[in-house]
Amino acid sequence: MIIACLDLEGVLVPEIWIGVAERTGIEELRLTTRDVPDYDELMTRRLGILERHDLGIGDIQEVIAGLAPLEGAADFLEGLRSQMQVVILSDTFYQFAKPLMKQLGWPTLFCHDLEIRESDGRIVAYHLRQQDPKRKAVHGFRELNFQTIAAGDSYNDTSMLAEADAGILFRPPDNVVKEFPQYPVCRTYGELRAAFDRACEEIAGSG
Ligand SMILES: [Mg+2]
Repeated sequence: MIIACLDLEGVLVPEIWIGVAERTGIEELRLTTRDVPDYDELMTRRLGILERHDLGIGDIQEVIAGLAPLEGAADFLEGLRSQMQVVILSDTFYQFAKPLMKQLGWPTLFCHDLEIRESDGRIVAYHLRQQDPKRKAVHGFRELNFQTIAAGDSYNDTSMLAEADAGILFRPPDNVVKEFPQYPVCRTYGELRAAFDRACEEIAGSG
């Protein structure tokens, strides 16, 4: 039994923070895990920027409501889910992801939680469910006697890719390709689906 573990941003939906940067005109918010591999450092910087610019959860949710999954993502996901169990492992937050999950047919999502101050909607803190959650989820599935194929685009996916029975990079930046040459690189959903099929065959062959 195989579980597909998919990253969310960059694989199925656009980078949420880049969308926020574009709508608000705040260039500093364009930083992602592609630029700052340390997620804690990245989030602390983002929340500081929002505070300085007087932006609350309502402003961010307004932007996200205007985002759509990447072209072809919903069909890809539906096709994959007809073949195997799919879990989305993301470093985003449930408060951000909800409108996008609706557009993807409510797939299972493991991510993090924001702490919102009720009086003014300010994001006062973020709570990571645990450290290295993507890798630990894959490890947990292994403990449950599942095999896993993981796909992601960025640094924060690489420990998940390493832990999985097979790892795939989808539209990664050049620096990630260079640092992790062991993973196949896909640029289209057709290629990604083919890479999943190949990985399934390899896992079946090695079992
Ligand atoms: Mg990503």
